[in-house]
Amino acid sequence: MPMLAADRPLPDKARPDRPVQDGGPDLRVRLAHDAESATIGAGEGHRLTASTGRRSRTLRPPVRVTVERGRVRLVDAAGGSSDWPRGREVLIASDRGGVVIDEALYPGDAVIVPKGESAFDVIERVPIEEYLPGVLSKELYAGWRDATYEAQAIAARSYALQERQRRRALGSAFDIESDTRDQAYGGSEAHAKARRAVAATRGVVLTYLDAPLRAYYSSTCGGRPASARDTWPIGQGFEFNLAGPIQATPRQCPCGFSPRYRWTVTRDTETLAQRLAAFGADRGSDLRQLRALAAIEPARRNVAGRPAVYRVVDRDGRSWRLSAEDLRLALNFTGRGQGPPPTDARAWSGDVEVAVEGATVRIEGRGFGHGVGMCQFGAEGLARQGRTAAGILAHYYPGARLGPIR
Ligand SMILES: [Zn+2]
Repeated sequence: MPMLAADRPLPDKARPDRPVQDGGPDLRVRLAHDAESATIGAGEGHRLTASTGRRSRTLRPPVRVTVERGRVRLVDAAGGSSDWPRGREVLIASDRGGVVIDEALYPGDAVIVPKGESAFDVIERVPIEEYLPGVLSKELYAGWRDATYEAQAIAARSYALQERQRRRALGSAFDIESDTRDQAYGGSEAHAKARRAVAATRGVVLTYLDAPLRAYYSSTCGGRPASARDTWPIGQGFEFNLAGPIQATPRQCPCGFSPRYRWTVTRDTETLAQRLAAFGADRGSDLRQLRALAAIEPARRNVAGRPAVYRVVDRDGRSWRLSAEDLRLALNFTGRGQGPPPTDARAWSGDVEVAVEGATVRIEGRGFGHGVGMCQFGAEGLARQGRTAAGILAHYYPGARLGPIR
């Protein structure tokens, strides 16, 4: 497979030899978890079929879904009610494709997975190429360049495929979450530019050591990237976070036009200390003992100069070490009895300088998001300079290759 080269179009060898069959591998996208009710509809004049492996039944949409004593119960628009075997997943598909789940349209089928006695997950089963336009439309601005969309399509496809392999190896009932825990996803609500970019890169993924790269990306790196190995677990089952292309190789990043390239927020010192302590309690760490906050300072920086670990110090001189990602989460943590931090005072990234000034804490930050891998504002900055999708990907995932889905 060819190396990524800057400013070249996607190499033909990166493309699959044959057209990707239908829409490529199926992805199971979790749309809702621990739901107690849902409504599954379909387009005008469509019929729905509910089935398990052994049994199927035609239903008139919309269909009301509940779980009672561990059994999926479906009530259709004609008033017909059916109960399904305890603990069994039920597939609900339209005869003409696409389903409406709680009033949002999705291109795939719905799978109802009972959990316990009365709750269930709603999972969409959708070919990966039909899933991706709904990701791009959520992740990027409508006015951004085609090259940015194409780079994002390849990164999102690679990430989804890697997560799919990881979860299937664990026996998970779904492959990927539909929000920022994995990738934001808007179902069929996708614009033409997103569809074009997915079609133009069909079947192409980033690979590293012959495996799909977990191609992390985030909004704005603020000029210096974070390393996957500093940000997420690297133990058994998480070796993919050690991949070279996602380890904060220093780079120039033209993300200065992002509204969150630099930001400053202020917080109340006492409330902030309570958030940090609540985060410590939630994680079972000694940080729960924090009372009076004295300082938060970098304890280690990565090769790009971005803090990877911070030290939180209290007024008695005790200190706790916290990864940059955990600090970002802790600064925004909502403990029991607390409200969330005001939206305009959130910590937008883990690259911060913190000044404790009496009753007030001033946080000066760089960027928005975890900062690992591709910077979306930076990708758009490069696209405006004339870079192609392959050039953008080479910039943000140095050492990765482009190859076909296998
Ligand atoms: Zn950037």
